Amino acid sequence: NCDLWSDADEDELVKLDYDENFQVSGCSAEWSLECDKIVSENGSPKNQFRPGYFIVSDFARQQWCEMQLLYSFAPEIILMRVVPGEEVKIEESEEAKAVKSKGTSIHLERELEIQVPVPVVVKTKEDKWAVKLINLQQAVLAFCRGQRLAREIPVFGCPFGSDIFVYGIIDELRYDPDKHDVHISELKTRKSFYSPKKGQQDKDKYQVNLYAQLFNELVAGKVSADMVASHLHLDLNKALGPGVLEHIQDVDTGISPDTCSFGELLEMVLSQVQSLCCIRNSRVEYIHQDSKTEILVLEVTLDAEALQQQFLHHCEWWHGNRGTTGVDIEDCWKCEHCQFSPLCEWRDFMANRLGNKKKAVSTG
Ligand code: SF4
Repeated sequence: NCDLWSDADEDELVKLDYDENFQVSGCSAEWSLECDKIVSENGSPKNQFRPGYFIVSDFARQQWCEMQLLYSFAPEIILMRVVPGEEVKIEESEEAKAVKSKGTSIHLERELEIQVPVPVVVKTKEDKWAVKLINLQQAVLAFCRGQRLAREIPVFGCPFGSDIFVYGIIDELRYDPDKHDVHISELKTRKSFYSPKKGQQDKDKYQVNLYAQLFNELVAGKVSADMVASHLHLDLNKALGPGVLEHIQDVDTGISPDTCSFGELLEMVLSQVQSLCCIRNSRVEYIHQDSKTEILVLEVTLDAEALQQQFLHHCEWWHGNRGTTGVDIEDCWKCEHCQFSPLCEWRDFMANRLGNKKKAVSTG
């Protein structure tokens, strides 16, 4: 199904995979891609696209295809490749949009099974983060009271002591008070009945492992109030707004609304979360969007060392320390579903390299 590399026969692809002198999946180390030259003129990707904080899905999308992530942040780069007079559409397909919207509805349905979202009026960015903290605190308190299930739980921090602040929302946490065990359950909805391919599973495993790592670092007390305040440019002394104070009273946070500043709330939640235990295991549940039947349950064990390597490799790109990469040969099926495919520079780059290598193999 891969038209991009269709002129390299299968035997040759196998040879290429195992040839250490030709790093098929490595970065464009010589920075030969035009897109990297354009991006580097304006600073690192982090400074340009995520000057504040990251969300977990930034990294999951990067795991899927870094080139696609870059194009989604900077579509002007791919538009430069349009030949004048040529008409090219790079929009997400209506079908893809419909799949996403169905997925969002199913997630909301699940959330509503156990909690009803309430509107809270926020006036400042400290108020906005205070609401996230209260949501985390409510999950912690629910487990302390013996409940076993919490949904839509915020987690945050700088994984592995990096300077990259990441925020995410865990779909579902399950707590077993007898074993004092917490695990993540992540829901993925699919249009198709078929099990997801390895590339999809890898992306989803990476995502739940990042959630687990963020959660574990909170539990281990590795996230400090100063870290949060400095990365998010928040004022710890800021008084919380009336909407948040009203919410604090309504949901029984155990905090006195008379005296509470953002910093006090933050300190309290960071301390409370340390009463939980770390996550070792997670699961990803794939269900069919229309019938809601289960397709696959993937059990995931956190390997913090492997995760760290993967995460730091991704951070190198954000810091502008290496060039952008697209998909590996075995994952070129992803290009079939990508709106950037007709103009993607990585596809040309790889096709050229494979063409050159093919020549070297046949004459060498
Ligand atoms: Fe990535 Fe393929 Fe899309 Fe290019 S066409 S951005 S390599 S998925």
